[in-house]
Amino acid sequence: MVAGEADELLGGVERVPRRADINAGCDDASQDEHHEDLANEPEHRAQLKPSRQKLLPKNAPMERVRGMSNAPYARVVPDRSGHSAFDYEIPGHLLGKVAIGSRVRVPVRTRLLLATVVDLLETTDIEGLKPIAELLSGKPLINPVLIQLGHWIASYYCCALHVALRAILPQVVRDAEMKEKMLLFARLAEKPDAAALEQIAKRAPKQAAVIDFLMGQSEPVAVTELMKECGVTRATLDGMRERGVIALERQAVQRDPYKEETFLHAPQLEMNPEQLAAFEPIAAAVKNPAIHRPILVHGVTGSGKTELYLRAIDLCLSIGKTAIVLVPEISLTPQTVERFKSRFAHLQEQVAVLHSNLSDGERHDEWHKINNGAARIVIGARSGVFAPIEKLGLIVVDEEHENSYKQEDAPRYQARDVAVYRAYMEGCAIILGSATPSMESYHNALSGKYELVRLLSRVDERKMPKIRIIDLRLEASRGPGASILSEPLCKAIRARLAKKEQSILFLNRRGFSTSLICSSCGHVCECPNCSLALTFHRGANRLVCHICGHTAVVPAKCPVCADPRIKYSGAGTEKVEELVSAFFPEAVVKRLDADSVSRKDSLKEALHAFRTGKIDILVGTQMIAKGLHFPNVTLVGIVNADMGLHLPDFRGGERTFQLLTQVAGRAGRGDVEGEVYVQTYTPFHPAIQFARHHDFPGFWEQEIEFRKKTNFPPFWHMVLVTLRSESESHAAFSADTLARRVRESLEAGSLPEDTMVSNPAPAPMEKSHGQYRFHLMLRTRRITRLSKGLHDILEKLTFPEEVIVSVDVDAYQLL
Ligand code: ADP
Ligand code: ZN
Repeated sequence: MVAGEADELLGGVERVPRRADINAGCDDASQDEHHEDLANEPEHRAQLKPSRQKLLPKNAPMERVRGMSNAPYARVVPDRSGHSAFDYEIPGHLLGKVAIGSRVRVPVRTRLLLATVVDLLETTDIEGLKPIAELLSGKPLINPVLIQLGHWIASYYCCALHVALRAILPQVVRDAEMKEKMLLFARLAEKPDAAALEQIAKRAPKQAAVIDFLMGQSEPVAVTELMKECGVTRATLDGMRERGVIALERQAVQRDPYKEETFLHAPQLEMNPEQLAAFEPIAAAVKNPAIHRPILVHGVTGSGKTELYLRAIDLCLSIGKTAIVLVPEISLTPQTVERFKSRFAHLQEQVAVLHSNLSDGERHDEWHKINNGAARIVIGARSGVFAPIEKLGLIVVDEEHENSYKQEDAPRYQARDVAVYRAYMEGCAIILGSATPSMESYHNALSGKYELVRLLSRVDERKMPKIRIIDLRLEASRGPGASILSEPLCKAIRARLAKKEQSILFLNRRGFSTSLICSSCGHVCECPNCSLALTFHRGANRLVCHICGHTAVVPAKCPVCADPRIKYSGAGTEKVEELVSAFFPEAVVKRLDADSVSRKDSLKEALHAFRTGKIDILVGTQMIAKGLHFPNVTLVGIVNADMGLHLPDFRGGERTFQLLTQVAGRAGRGDVEGEVYVQTYTPFHPAIQFARHHDFPGFWEQEIEFRKKTNFPPFWHMVLVTLRSESESHAAFSADTLARRVRESLEAGSLPEDTMVSNPAPAPMEKSHGQYRFHLMLRTRRITRLSKGLHDILEKLTFPEEVIVSVDVDAYQLL
C-alpha cells in the first residue's frame, strides 16, 4: 500500500545511499552503484533547462518531429542515474542514424550504460564530449510524442526525466535482453510421390503419419506440436531430416497471452435512442479531432457505455486510425478484455493487451507488436496510456474514477490525466466513462472543460436495483454473527436460493478477522514493522500484516499478560464465507479475494463457474465489485458499508459512494429486478443515503460544497511529501527542515502565492515496513509552478542518511 522508493527527484544532490524498497520495481535495487559515478562526471553534465516543457504544437504531424537529422550531438538520459541528461557526440558512422527516442549505450566513466536519446543538438558549448558507444535499435523505441509526454510527467509530477521514461518504456523492452521467442518448425522438404509414400507406410507407419500430417498443412508446424499430433519422438524427426524428407528451421513466434482462447465475433448491438444521442458528440470528436474537448460519459451501471466505446473504436479504425482503451486492473476483469476481443474477433492479430499479469515474454511481444505497427487497438491497464501506437485517433478511459489509475511508485502519475494530456498532444479524441465520475472529472465537465454526455437509464428499461439499508446498531444485539449477516440479509439470501438465483456478498477486507485482542489487558497483536494490527488468516493459520506481508504464529495466550482469553474481532472475507456456509449448508459458496486467487487463471475459472450457475453465493473483496456482468445475480449484500468512512481521508465519502454504487450495479443486470442490502452502523451518512437513491447529482452537490469549504481537490491541487526513515527523529527533523524551506521559498516568491503549507506531522500510518513516516501537505491552484518550486528546493537540500523523500502530486493515498 505505501509503496514507494528512493526519491528520484533529489537528482544530482542526492548523496544518500538508496534503499531498495520492497515494492519498488526490481530494476531499482542496483541503482546506487551507478549513481555515484554519474555524480562525479561534471564534464558530462549538460547545460540543462532547454529540454524542459518544449511541447509539441497542437496536431503536429508526426513525420515532422520524427525526422532524423544529421545533428552531431545527442542529449541522452541514462536509465539509471540521479541526473536528468548528458550530452554526447554522435560518432561518424552513426550520423543520421541516431534519432530522438533511439536506445544507445554511452560511456560513463568505466562503464557503459543504457540510455535514451531525448534530443538532437546542432551545437554544444561543452568541449571534448565522449562519443556514443553503440546504437541499439534501428527504429527509435520511444516516439517523440512519448518523449514529450515524459517531459510533461517529469515536470508535473515532480520527478526526474529518467524516472518518467521508466514508466514509458517497460523494463523488458528497455533492458534489450529479452529476445523474440524462437521455436523449431518442421515442413516437408519435398512431396513424396504416391509409390514412395506407400512404401514408407509399410516400413515406418509413424513417419508416414508425419508426412501425411504435414501434407495437410499450408504452414510449417511447430516440432513440439508435430510430435504430440503424430505420436513420434524427436529422434524420428531428426532421422527424417537426415534423409531429406523434412526440413527443420527456427522461427520467431509471438507469445500471445490469449492464444489459448477463441473469441467468437460479437456483432454490433442496435443502439437505443439514449445511446444514439450520446454517440453523436463522440462520433463528431473521433471524426474531427479539432473539436478537442474530452468527453465525459456519465452513464448509470448497465446503461450500455461499453457499446459506445466499441462503436467509437470501430469508427476510429474505419478512418485509418488506432485506439487505446484503458481499463482499471485489467487482469482482474477478464470479462472486459473478452468483450473487446470478441467485438474485434475478426481483427484478432491487431488487438494488443498490456497488463500486469503478462509474463515478461508476453509483455515484450505485445509491446513490440504495438511498436512495429501491427496492433491497431490496445487494451491496457494504467501503463497502457504509454502504448507506442501511432496514428492515434482515440483514447477511452473506462471507469475513470478508479483509484488504480494512480501509480503509487515514482513516477506517481494518474493515468487518466496523462491520457487527457496525451490526447491533447496527439490531437485525438478522448472519452472518459463512469457511473460514478470522480469529483475532478465531473467538475471539469460542469465547468465546460469537458463535454458531458449522459446515459440515465439502463438498457432495455431494466430497473435500477432497490437498495435497502440495514441498521447494524439494531441487528448486532440479536446475537453472534448478526452483525455480519443480519436477519433481513439472511432471509433475502434464502429466497434467492429457493428461486435458483445468485447472490454476491461484498466485504472489502480479506482474512478471517481483522485483529486479535486480549480480553484481559486489551493488547492487540500488531506488526512489528508497521503501525497496524495483524489480520488472522484461518486458511493459513497465521497472523499476516496487510501492509508489509510480515507473518507470525497465532499465539495461544496473550503475549503480554498470558491470559488465554485472546479473541478475534472484526470480520474478513474468510469469516463471512464460514458463516454463510454454516447458515446455508445446501448452497455452493465461493470466496474470491487475493488469498483465494493466486494462480493466474483461477479468477477466470471461478468467474466462469459463477456465470454458468455452478456457484450460488460469491463472497469477495473489490475483486468482484467492478465491471462484472452476471444476469442471474439478483441480490448483492454489502456486509459493512462503513469501512471507508472513518479513515483520515477527504475522499472517504466519495469512495464509499462509488463503491456502493458500483457493487450495487452488479445486481439486476438480467430480466429479474435486483435488490441490494447495505449493512451499516451509520445509516444516515450522506454517501450511503445518496447511493441508496441512485442520486449522483445529489451526492455531488453536497460533496463539492464540502470540498470547496475545506480547500480540497478539485478546487485545489494537493501535493503530499512523505519523509521516511528507520530513525524517527531523523524523519521528523527532515520534515521540519523541509517545511521551513518551503515557507522561506514561499516568502521569497518562488512558489505560487496561494500555496498552503501544512505543519509536518506523523503520517496516519506512522510506521510502515520498519520506517517512520512523516507527512508535509502542500496545496495550490497552480500545480505546475509548485512542482517546479518544490523540485528546486529539494535539489538544494541535503537530508540525513537513510531519509527517503517522496513527492506525490495529486495524491490519492493519504495514509
Ligand atoms: P455499463 O458499462 O454502462 O455498465 P454495459 O455496457 O455493461 O453497461 O451494458 C449492460 C448490458 O447491456 C450488456 O450486457 C450489454 O451487452 C447490453 N447492451 C448494451 N447496449 C445494448 C443495446 N443497445 N441493446 C441491447 N443490449 C445492450
Ligand atoms: Zn507490516
